[in-house]
Amino acid sequence: MSKNYKIGVIKGDGIGPEIVDEAIKVLDSVAAKFDFNIEYKEFLLGGAAIDEVGVPLPEETLNGVKKVDAVLFGAIGGPKWDNLPRELRPETGLLGLRKELETFANLRPAVVYDELVNASTLKPEVIKGVDIMVVRELTGGIYFGEPREYTPQRAYNTMVYTREEIKRIAKVAFDIAMKRDKRVTSVDKANVLEVSQLWREVVQEVSKDYPEVELNHMYVDNAAMQLIREPKQFDVIVTGNIFGDILSDAASMLSGSIGLLPSASIGSKVGIYEPIHGSAPDIAGQGIANPIATIASAAMMLKYGLNELEAAKAIENAIKAVLADGYRTKDISAYDAKEIVTTTEMGSIIANYVSKA
Ligand code: NAD
Repeated sequence: MSKNYKIGVIKGDGIGPEIVDEAIKVLDSVAAKFDFNIEYKEFLLGGAAIDEVGVPLPEETLNGVKKVDAVLFGAIGGPKWDNLPRELRPETGLLGLRKELETFANLRPAVVYDELVNASTLKPEVIKGVDIMVVRELTGGIYFGEPREYTPQRAYNTMVYTREEIKRIAKVAFDIAMKRDKRVTSVDKANVLEVSQLWREVVQEVSKDYPEVELNHMYVDNAAMQLIREPKQFDVIVTGNIFGDILSDAASMLSGSIGLLPSASIGSKVGIYEPIHGSAPDIAGQGIANPIATIASAAMMLKYGLNELEAAKAIENAIKAVLADGYRTKDISAYDAKEIVTTTEMGSIIANYVSKA
């Protein structure tokens, strides 16, 4: 009997609905090919929720996402809601959702597609073949540590990690490495920070359960430099919240195009799978948004959320093949385009490649 999955769908604002529709098209095509069923349940979040029910994170969404296997998310926000008080703004809804689902690990792949090596600001020979996964701790560290205080004369924050918090993020990183090239680089600042000393100790301990995975440690300043100097040396990078925030943005720009990169936020409950870009209100409704980041997020959902590894691979291969054959949305049209296509055309072409393969 074929498997059934329930997917929560949050389209959001701006280009959100356009790009999520294309990811669903591709998911349907991969489900048919690999003989499983997907049932979609739509939820409101962000600006769309504010317009409809007056709050960015409705109760129905909060309760509903607990009953699905994974959440596929577009993007939220836009100028229409920028002047609302903080608790009513679209991003407050997304932060609330992440908190509710306790998504403590943020996965950000940085992949450079061969056909788009010229989209990067770095030299092609440096970035060709780059395939990095940054695993960032998302719910602890200095952004949340107590005590914290601001006064006009003196202000401070606290960088704190417990053994348990480090252990669970390290496990995520090693599990992912097992599905990849089996190499983990743990990034810290253990030469000056006690919290990094503990980080290093615990990562080392966790690594004993993964004898096949090669572990090395790197200080964050060196890691920033190495990412630009020789990015191909990395497979999985695991790091704390603030270091990961900075390094994942730097790593994502190796590929040079924001419309291509997916992400996942996972924890012990349901994971959220979304493109790294925002709702791009400047191009919403024009049919020119690149849906590939969202389609690649759907592939991450299959891989890390549903353990449908072959189906995930089929989507990844289809994206590569479509780019190799020269199909480009407007944002990447400057790089070896043979045909410029719209958002929906790109979704349909990738879905067809999946079924044909
Ligand atoms: P953005 O990522 O939406 O857009 C930055 C630039 O990249 C724009 O020029 C846009 O047109 C382009 N772009 C983004 N995605 C694209 C795609 N798929 N295809 C082609 N071009 C694409 O960032 P921004 O302009 O700073 O923010 C716009 C809104 O999105 C804001 O309201 C912001 O708060 C929100 N935002 C939401 C999320 C999220 O939902 N996770 C993340 C970041 C920003």
